[in-house]
Amino acid sequence: MKQSIFLLLIFLTVSCSKKDNVFTREDGLSSFSVSGLEQHLKTLASDDFMGRMPFTEGEKKTLAYLEEQLNQLSIEPGNGTSYLQEVPLVKITATAAPTMTITSKKGSFTLDGLKDYVIWTERTDEKIELRDVDLVFAGFGIVAPEYNWNDYEGLDVKDKVVLVMVNDPGFGSGDSTLFKGNTMTYYGRWTYKFEEAARQGAKGVLIIHDDVAAGYGFWVVQNNWNTSRLYLDRRATNPYFCEMVGWVTNPAAKKLFESAGVDWAATVSAARKPGFKAIPMNLKLSTTLSVQATYDKSYNVIGKITGAQQPDEYIIYSTHWDHLGIGKADERGDTIYNGALDNASGTAGMLELAKAFKSVKNKPSRSIVFLFVTAEEQNLLGSAHYAANPIYPIEKTVANINIDGINPYGKMNDIVVVGIGQSDLEDYLNEEAKAVGRYTSPEPNPVAGYYFRSDHFSFAKVGVPALYTGTGINHFEKGTDYGKQLQDEYVAKYYHKPSDEYDTSRWNLEGAVEDLKLLFNVGKRLSLENTWPWWKLGSEFRAIRENHPKQP
Ligand SMILES: [Zn+2]
Repeated sequence: MKQSIFLLLIFLTVSCSKKDNVFTREDGLSSFSVSGLEQHLKTLASDDFMGRMPFTEGEKKTLAYLEEQLNQLSIEPGNGTSYLQEVPLVKITATAAPTMTITSKKGSFTLDGLKDYVIWTERTDEKIELRDVDLVFAGFGIVAPEYNWNDYEGLDVKDKVVLVMVNDPGFGSGDSTLFKGNTMTYYGRWTYKFEEAARQGAKGVLIIHDDVAAGYGFWVVQNNWNTSRLYLDRRATNPYFCEMVGWVTNPAAKKLFESAGVDWAATVSAARKPGFKAIPMNLKLSTTLSVQATYDKSYNVIGKITGAQQPDEYIIYSTHWDHLGIGKADERGDTIYNGALDNASGTAGMLELAKAFKSVKNKPSRSIVFLFVTAEEQNLLGSAHYAANPIYPIEKTVANINIDGINPYGKMNDIVVVGIGQSDLEDYLNEEAKAVGRYTSPEPNPVAGYYFRSDHFSFAKVGVPALYTGTGINHFEKGTDYGKQLQDEYVAKYYHKPSDEYDTSRWNLEGAVEDLKLLFNVGKRLSLENTWPWWKLGSEFRAIRENHPKQP
């Protein structure tokens, strides 16, 4: 008896001394430097990397660079003996006919592709022909049982093209209890509209564009005209896809309503209220698309530091390495979409994080994973593939921390939490910010639905609490208006354009280093704890985590 108590005491002493890995705020911080960050950023954003488009020479160079850097840092390969995870994709090049014919009782007219609408397809059939297909206006195209909302109620959309509005009923309603008011829910995203139309079995879907409600101008949509897009290779499961998906401009939609004899203003306002019934437009739409599909593989890059005490529990940092490659020339004749901020910067930041974790003398208790995903720009494909084929069990994944773009504007007093109120992770960030005299603030543009627009969303969709931050707006010297002005300028001048280049006259990485330290400290702390951060009450992802069969 005595002996076993003695043994128990020894055991307790040993396990206590193993736990000397306490959280020290300063540990590893000196590893971060502007020059280290800049070196990676310069390389990845250089013309030499050709805009880092999957399947191109730019991908090969990027993968080689990341593998070499991880290897140099002695980061373990994250997928068995390999740093790579294969992501099978299909490249679909859809070439739309230059016009679309609309026939009403009064006669017919044409809409011009690119100018009036932009369409494409997720199908791999060589030829897609829509001939005299009925158009029906289905409000927001939303089925949301928790909000008691169903725009497809009693509607048979088989062999029809549905016309839907962008965003959700809460937007602009002045009612914060209608959906989430001005904060966009996933129901407001274009990806949702396409997914729902396919679930309903529609032949096609067109979203009516609106600058304010979409959060970006029609030119962003126009970039999709007759280009190639990537999708996950789904030949194995063969789900249903609409034959045609896309957008129409607001003026073109008004023209459709007018020719159908449907009152635009009255209908759109009725569609914003519960109980709206879809309206057949009595218009027929005809157009064609020719399709070329090529199957290929891209790669996620994944590295790991195995935890010392809880190696089968994981903190996953994610960031996308890809961008848009080489495309249409801008007004300066530049064709290389360098994607310096989006997302050479996050990729560089993640290498700095990996270096910092390695610089800490004691190993983390939990494992730290560094996941560089592909094809984010093609609708979060690399992270979606990872979430569907996780290397580390989802229920053992404690948290995801995602970086998509770092702060290029110098030191900020704040750091933005995108999707504030979603998970406990923001409380960790709050504490770390406070400890260095900074603070967290809500995203300046919650209508744009940024929480659904980067790779952490793939983790959220499977229930893993996910933190996504953005550049603060309160500049430490020039104040809040200045920070906002810079962000508006970024969206107008640089976002998804060849001008998103690394430029020392415009960039100042000192603030980015400070932000990375915060994200590092959040992950470091999680890696030394036994706690499981959770989704907050009211988060649409809480139930997914709770219902996970192997929930911790
Ligand atoms: Zn991005």
